[in-house]
Amino acid sequence: MNIADSFRDPALCKGLLARLHEELDRPLRFMEVCGTHTVAIFQSGLRPLLPEGITHLSGPGCPVCVTHESEVAAFLDLAGREGIILATFGDLMRVPGPKGRNLKLAQAEGARVEIVYSPVDALQLAAKNPGDTVVFLGVGFETTAPTVAGTVMMAKAQGLRNFKVLCFHKLVPPALRVLLDDPECAIDSFLLPGHVSTVLGLEPYQFVAGKYGTPGVITGFDPVDILESLLIMVEQRKSGDYRIVNQYRRAVADSGNARAREVMFGVFETADALWRGVGRIPESGLVFREDYASFDALQALGVTVQEAPPTPGCKCGEVLKGKMQPVDCPLFGKGCTPAKPVGPCMVSTEGSCAAYYKYSV
Ligand code: SF4
Repeated sequence: MNIADSFRDPALCKGLLARLHEELDRPLRFMEVCGTHTVAIFQSGLRPLLPEGITHLSGPGCPVCVTHESEVAAFLDLAGREGIILATFGDLMRVPGPKGRNLKLAQAEGARVEIVYSPVDALQLAAKNPGDTVVFLGVGFETTAPTVAGTVMMAKAQGLRNFKVLCFHKLVPPALRVLLDDPECAIDSFLLPGHVSTVLGLEPYQFVAGKYGTPGVITGFDPVDILESLLIMVEQRKSGDYRIVNQYRRAVADSGNARAREVMFGVFETADALWRGVGRIPESGLVFREDYASFDALQALGVTVQEAPPTPGCKCGEVLKGKMQPVDCPLFGKGCTPAKPVGPCMVSTEGSCAAYYKYSV
């Protein structure tokens, strides 16, 4: 058995599952902050095997899902402008903005929108199109922001002035604080995001356990990771010894990635940000520092972000705060499906509504 297989070892999973059933002595509500964990739990087939007393809550850790209607409106404001090429990750194409409009529709109407696989691809697009301005749509958390920042540094070094970023990056820990301050969320424990934590390490989450007395486990994406993490959380709830634990040590250093943070905060600084369905969260977003302001699409191209109203009927905000299960949204599977999504949670591969729909729970 190679090392990767050991994290899917059926015998190990069976043992952990038995212990989980044994140890769970009361109903507990666990939030999977990152949508990839929600999908991993479904994909691995663990979901029906877990104790009934465990309630799974979705969290605000899907970057596409938390992209606010106003931010989509800003993308659409740029789409179709003369001399502008938008470069974006593919999962943003169908995210609905105001009045259900999206980038795919704008592209069909003639806007120049290119799907890229990294911000460096967007930089190369700028180099190949010196007569146009290439705007990279910067969404995502601490996992993506350092790469985008590094690309901006490259653009500066190469003197590529026709490369801009519409920066709507968001930071995970401030969103956790909002959930913990809201008594309606009533979260007993967090499965903390594996990828974001490779950059952050443990320190930015310490307030979760220290101030709010809520356990948190940084978790990998294989069944053994998830089962072991659930067990750690159950044990912490029983013992009252609330801590942040790094279960995903093979990928996450306790101190995170200092170089990635240095690059990210070299180009960006924190500011308030809008989150879909949650609203404005203090110091939860990133904006350009003065030294890199010429790469800021908002300033350079005169884009203003005006607060757009929430999408009528969509309960993504309630789902992202763990207050509602996707299947309890009145539109789920009726007015809202992956083929015709009303909200971003039904669009993204990490979206919980899409996951619940796909796995038909
Ligand atoms: S089912 Fe659709 S409308 Fe309802 S919360 Fe999910 S994405 Fe939003």
